[in-house]
Amino acid sequence: MKLTPQASLLNWYKIHGRHDLPWRTTGDPYKIYVSEIMLQQTQVKTVLERFYFPFLEAFPTLQDVAEAELDDVLKLWEGLGYYTRARNLHHAARQCGGILPNNAEGLMKLKGIGRSTAHAVASFAYREPLPILDANVKRILHRYFALIEREEKKLWRYAYELFDPSHPFEYNQAMMDLGAMVCLGKNPLCGSCPLEAGCRGKTAPLSYPEAKIKKTKPVRRRSIILHRRGSRYALYQRTSRFLHGLWGFFETDSPLGENGTFLGHITQHYSHFTLEADVYLCEEAFTEEGYEWFGADEFSTLSMSRADHKAVALLRYNLGKKE
Ligand code: SF4
Repeated sequence: MKLTPQASLLNWYKIHGRHDLPWRTTGDPYKIYVSEIMLQQTQVKTVLERFYFPFLEAFPTLQDVAEAELDDVLKLWEGLGYYTRARNLHHAARQCGGILPNNAEGLMKLKGIGRSTAHAVASFAYREPLPILDANVKRILHRYFALIEREEKKLWRYAYELFDPSHPFEYNQAMMDLGAMVCLGKNPLCGSCPLEAGCRGKTAPLSYPEAKIKKTKPVRRRSIILHRRGSRYALYQRTSRFLHGLWGFFETDSPLGENGTFLGHITQHYSHFTLEADVYLCEEAFTEEGYEWFGADEFSTLSMSRADHKAVALLRYNLGKKE
């Protein structure tokens, strides 16, 4: 008997799916929501090994997130990057008073929750019959329906066409796993794919969708200056949109010249630019407003960007050389 693509996919999921992922063995919408947000730009392995459990230990409920200071939420997010996710999570927690809406429509009204994330949380926690459209699912749909153009609106229509509304949880999880394990970006394993029979793109899967035009990332050259007074260092809490809420050292576009001690050079890749920065230690008078002074032993209590952490590592290395 010929199986429908949905039945074939669900059979495959039963055998090969990653059933033991902690956010799949819970019905708690908050935990599912946290996992969805963390997984948006980060791999499962990283989230699982370093971020998911410590975050839930610090904030066991969404109510705890709502009551926490943004600083404390950012601290737990440190190293995950894309901090807007953490700020939105904190904002959303307060927006809904620590209780998530129990359907996708309500979820979508919260800051930082887009349609696919809302569908994921609603289908996993409440079994709402809605498909998801994350990066993996997009790739599968493009190939399965042989769609060249990247058109989100059209893709949603195809997402509904292939969807199995009687098994929203299993179907969506199966699609995520298929994208992560079989319909891979560079080397799709069509011979082992449960959707192979109906896949229109299987003879040339890499042609779907059309390649993105790669933009070269701009490079920003800056100096990071660790101003020191006695044994304390000047840091400010960022209020700009980029890295908002994270603590950082003074930065400038101009080279420091003779006024400081060169500690080393750092490179940090962000999604929209690469930072190339020389790091200096400076003990001259520093009168810039908005800065607070911290001992080196307090750095670990502050939420800081990776670039600033690298600057701290250079400082410690150079101080170590002197001792
Ligand atoms: S047959 Fe190949 S291209 Fe089609 S969905 Fe499966 S892995 Fe992807």
